[in-house]
Amino acid sequence: MIVMKFGGSSLATAEHLRQVADLCTRAAKTPCVVLSALGATTDRLLHIERLAGSDGHDAATAALEALFLEVRALTSEVLQSPDDCLAGLQRMQQDLALLLRGIAKNGASARATDAVLAHGERIATTLLTALLRQRGADAIEVDARDVLRTDATFGRARPDRGQIRQLAHQCIGPFLGRKTIVVTQGFVGRSADGATTTLGRGGSDWTAALLGAALGADEVQIWTDVEGVLTADPRVVRDAMPIAEMSPEEAAELAAFGARVLHPSTIQPAVDRGIPVTVRHTMRPDGAFTRIDHRPHRPARGIAALAARGPVSVMTMTSRRMLAASGYLAKLFAVFGEHEVPIDLIATAEVSVACTVEADAPIPRLIAALDGLAHVEVHEDCAIVAAIGDGLQRTERALERACRALHPIEPVLVSFGGNSRNLSFVVQRDQQEQALRDLHDEFFGAREASPLAATTSEGQTP
Ligand code: ADP
Ligand code: ASP
Ligand code: MG
Repeated sequence: MIVMKFGGSSLATAEHLRQVADLCTRAAKTPCVVLSALGATTDRLLHIERLAGSDGHDAATAALEALFLEVRALTSEVLQSPDDCLAGLQRMQQDLALLLRGIAKNGASARATDAVLAHGERIATTLLTALLRQRGADAIEVDARDVLRTDATFGRARPDRGQIRQLAHQCIGPFLGRKTIVVTQGFVGRSADGATTTLGRGGSDWTAALLGAALGADEVQIWTDVEGVLTADPRVVRDAMPIAEMSPEEAAELAAFGARVLHPSTIQPAVDRGIPVTVRHTMRPDGAFTRIDHRPHRPARGIAALAARGPVSVMTMTSRRMLAASGYLAKLFAVFGEHEVPIDLIATAEVSVACTVEADAPIPRLIAALDGLAHVEVHEDCAIVAAIGDGLQRTERALERACRALHPIEPVLVSFGGNSRNLSFVVQRDQQEQALRDLHDEFFGAREASPLAATTSEGQTP
């Protein structure tokens, strides 16, 4: 079996939905289909929920009705007999209206947000299951909450992989065994005490990999609106090129450094079970695509791709006590640990150490807690631009070339050598896009185009 995950961008219009149904029915192996919410539904539900929580109950109800009006129009466009599906949608709208009343009365909570957002994915699975059946396919909708057991950290719930494996075999395995297409929601789960949870934005990719691993899939396919992972974000770098093959480490690093095409946690569950992950274009299924897996004899290549992420803040901590003192850094970083603030990049000098933290980190609290340990300077509104590739260390003069290409941009911090596949620069946020384009020109300009880029996994040019 295979897992086919379709993102919101692949589910935005009637044309998209028909294409998705085509791909599911024509798949060579029985698919477990994992869906995101249609188009920008999650953003819209978030907006509606915030309206309800901030004295805007009427506006929230109106926005909810507008959303469902569009969903009903789409349903009637793709289904010849839409009545059952419309009745299901009606129940979801009522359910949401009830939740919004609760939020207006009792205030918003992460728990309520998850309950609201989960409806986005449920709308999508209801609609696609009906469309598949209309085409004569044997398809069933499985509630992801019956399978995706998580903890109760609402908004970024952690999956319980042991339970998921068992539940997937119970709730999904038998259908696939009978060649029935299973359609389920990405992003959504349920805690042990029965509350609806979500895995964090973009989490459907993660669901796909978790289910793929649980069911021992032959492949996890991430269907989206680009021809695989590209050498940079195509919204910023217009001539970004598809990458035919990547190692799981490269893909994980790229996702962690901001390439939105994959959720950062997607790769691990699949890698643990040796399952390849491919990234494909829903509307151009015969085009280029990326295959992510371990291949021992992958041809050598330098930098695979670039990514950028912001805003982040740089904290520079200075103290003469650092000079030749042992255990000092441990004390410093213990403060970050106590405040549960993850640190991303670090650079150290004789009497100072600089690190990046997320822009929403509780910096004033950290500074207060560091009082007496170090003097702290904060550089806000920065971004990380990273060059990633297993062969980075083999790329001749990579650091020198990158610095030259960035000129006159002066990086606030440089990190190189922490691992063998990442060269990162922290720049001002408003320089992020220019820095990405400069580095792309340097490492992927026509002169540098790698023979692997712009070919499909079968080695044909797209
Ligand atoms: P989906 O709705 O399918 O989940 P996303 O919008 O989450 O799609 O991810 C796909 C988008 O990721 C692309 O449209 C592209 O703009 C962006 N993106 C950022 N970096 C990259 C990259 N290196 N390669 C491909 N796409 C990227
Ligand atoms: N619909 C969710 C989101 O927009 C999950 C996903 O798309 O993967 O974040
Ligand atoms: Mg996504």
